[in-house]
Formats: sequence, C-alpha cells, structure tokens
Amino acid sequence: MIQNILDDIYSRISEEQSGEVANYIPALAEADPKDFGLAIVTVNGDVYTAGDADTPFTIQSQSKPFTFALALEECGIETTYEHVGTEPSGDAFNSVVLDPVTKVPFNPMVNSGALSMAGLIQEKKGEGAFEAIRSCYSSFAGAELSVNDRVYDSELATAHRNRAIAHLMRSGDVVSDPVDEVVHLYTEQCSIEVTARQMATMSASLANIGTNPVTDETIVSPLVVRHVLSLMFTCGMYDYAGRWAVDVGMPAKSGVSGGLMAVVNRQIGIGLYSPPLDEHGNSVRAIKACVELAEEFGLHAFEFSNAGSSMLSVYI
Ligand code: GLN
Repeated sequence: MIQNILDDIYSRISEEQSGEVANYIPALAEADPKDFGLAIVTVNGDVYTAGDADTPFTIQSQSKPFTFALALEECGIETTYEHVGTEPSGDAFNSVVLDPVTKVPFNPMVNSGALSMAGLIQEKKGEGAFEAIRSCYSSFAGAELSVNDRVYDSELATAHRNRAIAHLMRSGDVVSDPVDEVVHLYTEQCSIEVTARQMATMSASLANIGTNPVTDETIVSPLVVRHVLSLMFTCGMYDYAGRWAVDVGMPAKSGVSGGLMAVVNRQIGIGLYSPPLDEHGNSVRAIKACVELAEEFGLHAFEFSNAGSSMLSVYI
C-alpha cells in the first residue's frame, strides 16, 4: 500500500520540469536535473523507495539539524543556546545577519547558525571535530558516510559569504576559533555524501526519538530530538518555512543540492532528492512530492483527522 502510493507520486511528479539546479557552488551545477529519488523509512525499520533513491548527492544544509543535535548532546542545551537562537529569521539561508538584540544567529537552520554550531563543535573537539560530525551523521544514516572532495574544493573556493558571516561572528565572539578552521569544518560537513534512502533513515532516527530504527543504535536523547524537530518545524525551509507549515505541516530540512528530509513524529522519516530548485533554494519536485504524501497519508501535524500520528497502524 505505502509502496503503491509512493510509486504513484513518483511517476506523477517526475513530469514536473520547473526549477534551476544550484550553480553558486560550481560543482553542484553538474547535477543531472532528471534525477529524482524518494524514500520512506518507518520507525519499525521498514524501507520503501522509488526512483533514484540510491543516487549520491552532498547533504548541504540538511546537515544543519544533525550538527545542532550533536552540539546539544555534547555541549549541553545552555551552552548551545549561548551560540544560537530559536527564532525564524525570515531571511534567505545565506544572509550575512545576526539577531540585532542577542548578537547571535537567529537559528541553527540558516548558514550563520550552522557555522556557529560547527564553531562550537570545533571548540569542543579540536582536531577530532570533523570525525565527531562524520561519525554522528553515519550513526543517523546507518552507513559509513564520507566527503565528496570535488564538491568540498569547489565550495571552499567560492565560500565568500560564509567567510563574511564567520568573520562577523568572530568579531562578536560567537565563534572563538580561527574563521578559516570554522568555514573549513562547515564546508566539509556540507560536502558529506548521502542518498535519499540514507536521508530517510536519518530522518526516521529523529522520528524514532533519537534511535536509528534500522541499526537500533541510540544516538541522541529524546530531549535533543524535541529541540531539533521544533527548530526544523519553524525554520527548516528558510523563508518558505511558514507556507510549508501550512501546506505540509512536518518538521523538514532542505539543501541546495536538491535534498529534502521530513519527519512524522514516531511514524516515518522521508528522504527526497531532485536537483532543480525554486526561488527559495528548495527542491521543486521534493516539495510537490511532500505535499502529495502529506495529503495521501494525512501527515500534517494538525490534520483534523490526526491520521498521520497513527499512520503505521493504518497502512501496515
Ligand atoms: N553549503 C551550502 C552553503 O553554505 C549549504 C546551503 C544550503 O544547502 N542551503 O551555502
């Protein structure tokens, strides 16, 4: 039943041709606009896929909730919120702006907040910072993940805005390590390669309150998951987050490579990949597919029938 609905949505939305592949990171412009993959992983560990669910792409901004989770887990809630806020910014993801009142980034889902979180992990772990991040993402994905060097080099060579953001934060002591180290670490985390199937597993580990439902490994505490999902819900889709909350109603996170992950609490994780983006930097096909999935399965958090919260008992 779930497979049939997924196949149906895949074939309908494959027809969609609008959107532009990101090109401000030169290596991303080489992505094939036809690629389209969908995956659902349930909290019981069942996996459903359609299309290019095993095509690798770089995680980009979908990394942000996971480094935020690692910061909360490793550095504690109080310290983490000394370095990042919890308010939607209403600005584009790469805005060179901090909260004018608190002087820290608005939230961990935009570049400034993610750079600040990478800075915090750098401070805590020193030379082991990247390995801590890579191994955390790998636990969420249930697979050993690694960096796509070509995308990493390409982004590092053009990361002028991220350097500007990091300098702004360094001048206000939001980050205390050298700007170059923080930008390198953040760029490396964004260049980690994943597939839609792996993103659905990462997402399902959040749906399963911090335990990977496929490997059974517990990665972060339930309290950390509550913080992460709350910020994904209010800030995960950048300056489209409000409309997304109305139309789809799931905690989610997008990335410029065309990935999108969404979480249905205690039910399923969804991972999607399709490179052409809309004007907010979100994947056109992935958004359409999520709107249809939400509709078909009743996944909106405030669906009047509340079908999503008992989806598995209905469909399996
Ligand atoms: N690495 C990208 C950047 O910093 C991530 C942005 C995104 O996916 N929206 O610009």
